Amino acid sequence: MFSKKRRIIPLFLIVMITFFGTGQVLAYVTTSPYKLNGGISGKTFYVGDPSGNWGSSIRSGVTAWNATSTGASYAEKSTNNQTLDFFVGNFGNVSWCGFTYYLDSSGNYINYGGYPNKNWSRNSVQIQEPPVSGCPAYSKKATAAHEMGHALGLKHSDKSGVLMSSPTGADTPKTDDISGVNALY
Ligand SMILES: [Zn+2]
Repeated sequence: MFSKKRRIIPLFLIVMITFFGTGQVLAYVTTSPYKLNGGISGKTFYVGDPSGNWGSSIRSGVTAWNATSTGASYAEKSTNNQTLDFFVGNFGNVSWCGFTYYLDSSGNYINYGGYPNKNWSRNSVQIQEPPVSGCPAYSKKATAAHEMGHALGLKHSDKSGVLMSSPTGADTPKTDDISGVNALY
């Protein structure tokens, strides 16, 4: 039987852990242990950009990831249902510039609208067109690269100036973002 006195120590430790946890600047946050099946090299992507406003920015965002030391390599294909599909459209009154979904090998959404709770096989990214007010033209590449960061298995970071800050603080993957992906694969 535990007395009330004996419970003081564990409760104190929990408080201490919580205190230091919230005060810490996280380097990166990943979807660990969940990740893209088969790794992130030799993959494919599709750009669905009927308006033509986003295509080059999306390609620049993917190219930026391909140029990192993560081993990410995504080659463009002309049809959808690739590892990473970008769809550009008017998705209504939304507060985001881009949103990433996770799908299984059958094309079913995993934890729809949230981060994955198991490994995924594909990603679908919705890019809002016209951009919402918080998404000016200069940030198109940043949006594409940021959403690809989610597709690779990164959650938002509370560190400023990195790609996975929300809103993003960069338009290319920074050391911090790259370290996160390397930690996952
Ligand atoms: Zn995000």
